[in-house]
Amino acid sequence: MRALHSLLTQKGYVEPETIDRIIETYETEVGPHNGARVVARAWTDKTYRDWLLADATAAIADMGYSGRQGEHMVALFNDDMVHHMVVCTLCSCYPWPVLGLPPVWYKSAPYRSQVVMQPRSVLAQFGVTLPDSMQIRVWDSTAEVRYLVIPQRPAGTEGLDTESLAKLVTRDSMIGTGLALPAQSLGLSRRDT
Ligand code: FE
Repeated sequence: MRALHSLLTQKGYVEPETIDRIIETYETEVGPHNGARVVARAWTDKTYRDWLLADATAAIADMGYSGRQGEHMVALFNDDMVHHMVVCTLCSCYPWPVLGLPPVWYKSAPYRSQVVMQPRSVLAQFGVTLPDSMQIRVWDSTAEVRYLVIPQRPAGTEGLDTESLAKLVTRDSMIGTGLALPAQSLGLSRRDT
C-alpha cells in the first residue's frame, strides 16, 4: 500500500490527502461491523432475510453499504446441513463494503489453495470442527461476484436486540472460517437457567 501510495503521488495522479482519506475510510468506517449488522438484521427480520436471499446487493445497500467490490453480492446462509466458505483462488476479491479490507491470510497462497482441497483442515486451523454430516461448500469469488456468509444464529440469543446480536458476528464467521460467537461471550446473565 505504501509503495503504491508513493508511486501514485509522485506521478501526480492522486493527491496524497485523497489516498489518506480513502485508507482512513476503510480503516475506520468500513469494516466487519457493517456485515455484522446485516447478519443481525437477517437473524431477526424474516422479510429482510428473504430479501437478502433474493437480492443481496439491494438488501445490503439498504443498510447503506454499497460501492466498490460490493456491486454484485450473494448471501450464503449456513444451516444445520451446509457450511459455506469463501475464497478467491485467483487473487484476493473480497466484499469491501461489508467486511472492509481482507485479512492477510485471506490473500495468502496456502489459504487460497488449501480451502478448496481440504476445507476441513483449514477450518481446524481456525479452531472450528464441524460434524462429518455437515456439507462444506467453498465458493470462489469471481471477477464480479462477492459473497457474504450468514452464519447460524447462536443458541440462547432469542431475547437479544440486533445491536447485541451484531457483536456475536465475527469477520471470520462471515468468510466461513469461523462461527458466530456464543451468547455467553456477551457476558449475559441467563435468567432462564
Ligand atoms: Fe480476486
